[in-house]
Amino acid sequence: MNPAHAFETLHLRMLDVGHLRAASAVLDWDQEVNMPPAGGPARGRQLATLNAHAHALFSASETGNLINDALAARDHLGPDRQALLDEIAYDYNRAVRIPETFVRRFSEARSAAYQAWLDARRRSDFSMFLPHLDALVVLNREKAALLGYSDTPYDALLEDYERGMTSAQLKPIFDLLAQRQSALAARTSASSSAGAEPGWLGQRWDTARQWEFTEQVLRDMGFDFNAGRQDRSAHPFTTNFSIHDVRITTRLTEEDFFSALFSSIHEGGHALYEQGYREEDEGTVLASAPSLGMHESQSRLWENMIGRSLPFWNHYLPYLRKQYPGQLDRVGAEDLFREANRVRTSLIRVEADECTYNLHVILRFELETALIEGRLEAADVPGAWNEKVRQYLGLEVPDDASGCLQDIHWSHGSFGYFPTYALGNLYSAQLLATMEAAIPDLWDQVNEGVFGPCLCWLREHVHRVGRRETAVEILRDATGKEPDTDAFLEYLESKYSALYNL
Ligand SMILES: [Zn+2]
Repeated sequence: MNPAHAFETLHLRMLDVGHLRAASAVLDWDQEVNMPPAGGPARGRQLATLNAHAHALFSASETGNLINDALAARDHLGPDRQALLDEIAYDYNRAVRIPETFVRRFSEARSAAYQAWLDARRRSDFSMFLPHLDALVVLNREKAALLGYSDTPYDALLEDYERGMTSAQLKPIFDLLAQRQSALAARTSASSSAGAEPGWLGQRWDTARQWEFTEQVLRDMGFDFNAGRQDRSAHPFTTNFSIHDVRITTRLTEEDFFSALFSSIHEGGHALYEQGYREEDEGTVLASAPSLGMHESQSRLWENMIGRSLPFWNHYLPYLRKQYPGQLDRVGAEDLFREANRVRTSLIRVEADECTYNLHVILRFELETALIEGRLEAADVPGAWNEKVRQYLGLEVPDDASGCLQDIHWSHGSFGYFPTYALGNLYSAQLLATMEAAIPDLWDQVNEGVFGPCLCWLREHVHRVGRRETAVEILRDATGKEPDTDAFLEYLESKYSALYNL
């Protein structure tokens, strides 16, 4: 085929793959948000058909031939098309290393493991999950061998979530974080200024008013409701079918003042990224994030660094007093700020505060690298887990449900996912520090409820890049630095020292 024509044909073929994947994402979203319970089995079959078609179209040898023909004429393409071609080739080369038979075995093992995990967690009985965890570790080692690696099989798995990152790079970063964050957590819990939870927090918060508040904050952040919407679901998430159709969900509970708000801001941070890609990248793989860590940096920057800041609460307190007449009369912005950042050292990762969150991630990283590298037997996971919780968090694990059975990831066969949460924290702090230097009145603006300068900066330095660069390259270009712990530890230690008089 004529090489110039090859790129165009490939591009059209990839747009079709994208349409099938987007249709599948719509069905997934509907399943979480709207679908009646009895619809499950039919929906599963519909999704399987769509996903099989998308996979077949993408991994066909014809796609490979088009890629090779287009690569032969790569020099004649402009930089955007070169970037798109390189990303398609990267995805294709990874996909074809995994044979169809392996995909089926993996997916069957995963379905069985997920069901067993649900039962095991309900009964808090690790032994029910053990044979499945064992099988998934073996399958993941096999997957790593198929994908190839130079140092450790774990790196081949990590690549799926945090491209270019290695466990050799993560290890010293995580060692330092573990040491400094467990020391900080111990100091906050020993602090006399921690105090008891104030009575006002125990009031009922009208859920319709909470909903209005979340939508107001999303609008202020710059979320485009003409190109997105918010709904309710049991577990908040973000999905998108186009730059112009980004969906987020949140959950509302009358008893919890903060839960819906922080879920909305978190997912809103993800959504602003998805709405911020370049128009000309619509429908292509360039309109996506280079890694989960970079994606998570956006949700955490908005949720933790902006949403849990004093200027944020200064701005919204008058609004909230009108929303909840009589309920916040004696509550100041400082009180809201303090409660939004209260350290509660918890056994459960998803309930963890900023001060301790990375410790949950690090212990999982240490256990899963040991499992994949064969230094730890699956049977020894509960003991090793409980020991690390004692070491990092100073807590005793009473049962496996609140210990090694709490997360869904391993039951899904996902090893290498956890580090991206901690990397998101590090990236967000590095981006924020640079943004503060570039926008000297950033916090005065937040104090007025003006988030535009912040969003503009993120659009320019992160969102619009899409997948043209890796996460590390984006960080280097935006901040002049490699991923490191300095900005995050400085942010964390100064925030909690002030809050807890350390
Ligand atoms: Zn997230």
